[in-house]
Amino acid sequence: MKKVAIVGAGIVGATAAYYLSQAPDLAVTVFDEGKGQATKAAAGIISPWFSKRRNKAWYKMARLGADFYQTLLADLEQAGYSADFYQQTGVYLLKKNEEKLAELYELALERRAESPLIGDLQILKRSQVEETIPDLQGFERLLYASGGARVDGALLTQTLLAASGVKVYSKKVGLEQQGTDYIIDGQVFDTVILSCGAWLGEVLAPLGYEVDVRPQKGQLRDYQLSLTTDDYPVIMPEGELDIIPFGAGKVSVGATHENEQGFDLTVDKVLLDQLEEEAQTYFPALKEGEVLAERVGTRAYTSDFSPFFGQVPASPNLYAASGLGSSGLTTGPLIGQQLAQMVLGEDLLLEPENYPVARYVNKV
Ligand SMILES: Cc1cc2nc3c(=O)[nH]c(=O)nc-3n(C[C@H](O)[C@H](O)[C@H](O)COP(=O)(O)OP(=O)(O)OC[C@H]3O[C@@H](n4cnc5c(N)ncnc54)[C@H](O)[C@@H]3O)c2cc1C
Repeated sequence: MKKVAIVGAGIVGATAAYYLSQAPDLAVTVFDEGKGQATKAAAGIISPWFSKRRNKAWYKMARLGADFYQTLLADLEQAGYSADFYQQTGVYLLKKNEEKLAELYELALERRAESPLIGDLQILKRSQVEETIPDLQGFERLLYASGGARVDGALLTQTLLAASGVKVYSKKVGLEQQGTDYIIDGQVFDTVILSCGAWLGEVLAPLGYEVDVRPQKGQLRDYQLSLTTDDYPVIMPEGELDIIPFGAGKVSVGATHENEQGFDLTVDKVLLDQLEEEAQTYFPALKEGEVLAERVGTRAYTSDFSPFFGQVPASPNLYAASGLGSSGLTTGPLIGQQLAQMVLGEDLLLEPENYPVARYVNKV
């Protein structure tokens, strides 16, 4: 029986664990420290179609990643697990220069041909938006796409790990190589997946690797409002600010992108207050909200901001994924499933050569 270890149970590791657990003749063990995990700190917006990034490989991964949620939901529901971590309530995109909405609409319309998940696309006037969110401010018109979704990252990983039934050790571990085997926490494995996000460099350093992955601090604040927000679309003004209404009056406001803070996890109230103040100009109801929590996580990014996944060079049966940046809740489930497919020797939807590990991970 093949013994597979997964180090890191954020969205990538939890999805890989779930799909590997479905395969026969395989024993899967998961190790996850959990501290600073990006997945459980994330805002949870799934809406890649409006991105102006020119990186075609990234866009393909992101649009197929958004699509892949439908497969994941169906698989979990068939296995008897509720998919209440995901709701397609749509997105509202706001532009400072509203002339640009028509351009964005055209781009999305073109992209809808290969991504029907975008759904209904409309430029809405304020009076039309009022029917859904009564007091949204700071715009005359906005672009609405019904296919945008919100995901609760923590609930998603919990569901995946529960559905996989695998043993999860909640601890920080190191990796040793012994011949063609790997030793983790005193146990021997023939195959290892490193889905340890921003910490990949730390885990691979003892094996003599240099890794181009950097930490980016991200913070957001959760509020409880006495409103029924269940059907509210995600509100995306231009810039860092996003307002993500979840069900039962819970609303998240985020997120910061701090490249110079390393792995620091302290809450910076000044930055969160700034985001809150800006958010209130769009969504005044927030002023009546009670702060529920402040979350801090560490995203992983590479020097060219591209994610990667696949075989680690010069170490057989060692796989890694990292560098998912700000869109890892969108791309993470697909990457996790593709890693599982690689371990199982099955066909892949993405071409790994477009996301090469060797560009970011090398033996020195
Ligand atoms: C504030 C914020 C907002 C975001 N918003 C969005 C969004 O709206 N939409 C979107 O698509 N993406 C968003 N993201 C990005 C997304 O959350 C990440 O890209 C994604 O979750 C990364 O997943 P991962 O599995 O690669 O890593 P992580 O989720 O970081 O998981 C890695 C895990 O590995 C564990 N680990 C590391 N080293 C070890 C070790 N030695 N031993 C054991 N365990 C170890 C860590 O503790 C952690 O639990 C956001 C991120 C942040 C921080």
